Amino acid sequence: MSRFFSGKYDNLAPYVPGEQPRDRKYIKLNTNESPFPPSPGVVAAAGNEAYQSNLYSDPECTSIREALAAFYGVKKEQVIATNGSDEVLNFAFMAFGDEKSPLLFPDITYGFYPVFAELNHIPYDVAPLREDFTVDVADYLGNDHTIVIANPNAPTGLALPLSDIETILRANPDRVVVVDEAYVDFGGESAVALVDRYDNLLVTGTFSKSRSMAGARLGFGIGNAELMADLNRLRYSTNPYNVNRMTMEAGAAAIREHDYYAKNIQTIIQNREYAKEKLEALGFRVTDSKTNFLFAKTDAMDGEALYLALKDRGILVRHFTSTRIRDWNRITVGTAGQMDALVDAVRDILKGEPV
Ligand SMILES: *Cc1c(COP(=O)(O)O)cnc(C)c1O
Repeated sequence: MSRFFSGKYDNLAPYVPGEQPRDRKYIKLNTNESPFPPSPGVVAAAGNEAYQSNLYSDPECTSIREALAAFYGVKKEQVIATNGSDEVLNFAFMAFGDEKSPLLFPDITYGFYPVFAELNHIPYDVAPLREDFTVDVADYLGNDHTIVIANPNAPTGLALPLSDIETILRANPDRVVVVDEAYVDFGGESAVALVDRYDNLLVTGTFSKSRSMAGARLGFGIGNAELMADLNRLRYSTNPYNVNRMTMEAGAAAIREHDYYAKNIQTIIQNREYAKEKLEALGFRVTDSKTNFLFAKTDAMDGEALYLALKDRGILVRHFTSTRIRDWNRITVGTAGQMDALVDAVRDILKGEPV
């Protein structure tokens, strides 16, 4: 840190992304990317658009907003496009969180939430998940908080039924409820269907997980038009060209080629259930994930030791050091071959086989 860095960030502990080491080729199961490449139309659209990258992108993001609106059955005015969904989450925190409406989210959830809160000096509270990592809906009923719920949640993988989301929305009519649906395509129930009925609902989504575009940075928010106007005030005060040309047209192509992604999603769900069964057979406790990752622990071994032993064998998974989940590892669901490699490595490690 330089001696010039503002003291207003003294308490800021930046988000730590999953490691992307380059020392050898790893089977990467640590950042919840898709193992499948983007569809051909996505690559072509990005390439074509690159020819025009001397020109700024459309600040209204018309093409991608129209594509998303048609896909989700909402109006274009109910959609905002952003540089990853991290950006719409940051805007939402800035827009709807303050002393009067502090943020509230689970103690175990997406690690970026406390970072965005700290960055913007927004007070926040956390509600502990139950022992089994389920959300106690009663924690979110009418206590003047702006609520942020990842559904399904990360890194637990667990999903709330839509009826619980609706209960939370009804109990907080004067506060915004942000539902982060980064993983919803892998088995969750989307709250997008509720946006016309609840003016306090903001749903966020991403192209990073089910649509194989993590490196392109494309996210979105869906809610009523007034919420979108608030978020756009902040977007136009930050970076009106937040979504670049290549990404915007690539995203629209991904929506057009939805069938390709729908098939990949089915494969990932199958591979998830397959790997879950195998890990359970090896004595692991594995949560009932509705995402593209598994959350698993074994009593036979410390969570960090397992993570390190897998890394030695060329397999990266995500280990978190916070107390409640230090025994666990988050394992991205990849191809069937990758899941077999994972299960074989885990079996060898538990048997004490040398690398
Ligand atoms: C991956 C993820 C996101 C967002 O990722 P982007 O790449 O910024 O779209 C948001 N929320 C959760 C819970 C995630 O796991």
